[in-house]
Amino acid sequence: MKVLLADDDKITRTIIAARLAKWGYEAVIADDGLEAWAILHGPNPPSLAIVDWMMPGLDGPELCRRIRMEAREPYVYVVLLTGRSEKVDLIEGLRAGADDYLTKPIEAQELEVRIRGGKRIVDLHARLIESRQAMWHQATHDGLTGAWNRPAGLDALAREIVRSAREGTKLASAIVDLDHFKRINDTYGHLGGDETLREAVRRMTKALRSCDTLARYGGEEFLVVLPGCDEEAGIEAAECLRSALAGAPMAIGEARAVVTCSIGLATFEGEPGPEALMRRADDALYAAKRTGRDRVVLAPPTVAVASAPATKLAS
Ligand SMILES: [Mg+2]
Repeated sequence: MKVLLADDDKITRTIIAARLAKWGYEAVIADDGLEAWAILHGPNPPSLAIVDWMMPGLDGPELCRRIRMEAREPYVYVVLLTGRSEKVDLIEGLRAGADDYLTKPIEAQELEVRIRGGKRIVDLHARLIESRQAMWHQATHDGLTGAWNRPAGLDALAREIVRSAREGTKLASAIVDLDHFKRINDTYGHLGGDETLREAVRRMTKALRSCDTLARYGGEEFLVVLPGCDEEAGIEAAECLRSALAGAPMAIGEARAVVTCSIGLATFEGEPGPEALMRRADDALYAAKRTGRDRVVLAPPTVAVASAPATKLAS
C-alpha cells in the first residue's frame, strides 16, 4: 500500500520512510504541502497520508482542509505530525480534517499502530465503494446477458431525448426482436435460449458504437438508443445489427443455427418523453414481423409529408 509522506524535514522523512518500507508500505515522498497536494492529484494517488504540521507552501492543517473540501473518493486517511503537544493545537488539526495525529519525536511502535489503524479504515472504505459499484451494476444490468436492463435503457433514451431537444441533434431508437424465439426454446431448451440471448447481445454490442445503448427490454426484445442518427444513419446501424445476427450461424450447445431478428426503427421528432418514440418503433417492429421478419422497418413520420412513403422497407 502506498503512503504519502509529506515533511519538509529530511531527517524525519528518511526515518519514517525506512520504517514504512520495513512494514511493507511504499512511501511516496513530498518535501512540502504543495508537492503533497500535487501527488494526491496525480495518477493512482495514495489514500493514506502522513503529513507534517509545519511545512512551507501549504501547512498540514490547510492540506487537510483542502482534502476534506474535495470530499474525494477513495477516502484519504490523514495522520498529522506535530512538534507541538498543546491540546488546543491538536484540536485545530483534527478540526481541519485529520483523522489522527502523532507528536514528534515519532516513536516507531506508535507510528506502526496508527498506520495500521488508518489502513483498516482505507481498506474498509475501498470495500464499501466496491460493493456499492457491484450493487449499482446489478440494479442497472440484465443478469443473463450483461446488457443494460429495461429501466436503465429507458433512462438512457429519456436522457438522449432531452439532449436532442436541447441541442437540436438527431436521435434514433430501435426495438430488436429475435425471430421465432419460442422455436429456439422448444428446440434447444431454455439453456439454449439463454445461450442465444447472450450471443445475440455479444454480436450486437460489437456492431454498435460505444455511445449507443443496448438494453434488454424484456424476453427476447432489445431497446437500442442511437444518438446522433437520422433516418439514414439509423437504418444503417439497424442493418448492422440485423446482419450481425443473420450473417453467421450461432453455436447453440452442440448445434448451429441461424438466428435472425426483426427491427423497428423510429427517429426522434420532438416528442416530450420516450413513450411516443417507443410506440412508433414498436409499430414498425410489428410491420417488420408481419412482412416476413429478418428485416428493418422505419416508422413513418407522424406528420405526413407529401410523396413520402408510408414505410421504408429494407432487407
Ligand atoms: Mg516541518
